[in-house]
Amino acid sequence: MMALEVIQSQAFIEVWSAIRNAGRDALDCVPVMTITDFSCVDERDRPVPRDAIDSSVAFSCPRCAHPMLATLGTDQHGGTPERPARCRKCRFECWIEVDRLTPQTIRLFARSIS
Ligand SMILES: [Zn+2]
Repeated sequence: MMALEVIQSQAFIEVWSAIRNAGRDALDCVPVMTITDFSCVDERDRPVPRDAIDSSVAFSCPRCAHPMLATLGTDQHGGTPERPARCRKCRFECWIEVDRLTPQTIRLFARSIS
C-alpha cells in the first residue's frame, strides 16, 4: 500500500514537470492532485479533524473553530502562504501543503495576523 502511494506521488511529480517544461500555454491543463480522504496534521504533527475531497479540505479554524476551506495549488485559496485562507470570524490565516514524507497526509500551516 505504501509503495503504491509513493509511486502515485512520483507519477504526479513527473506529469507536473512535463507540463511545466512544455511552457505556459500548457498550464491550463495542469492536473489537480486529489487529496480525497487524506489525513491532516498541523505544524506540530497533531491530527486535525477535516473533510478532504478532490483538491480541497474543510477544517475548523485552529483559533476559533469557525469553518474554513483550503484548496491545494499555488493559485488557489489556502494553497500557499502568499494566498492563505483567512478565517471569516477571527481572520486567522491558514494554508495547506502535501506532506511529502508521510503518505496521504496534508499539513496545515497557520499564522496570526495582527
Ligand atoms: Zn478563526
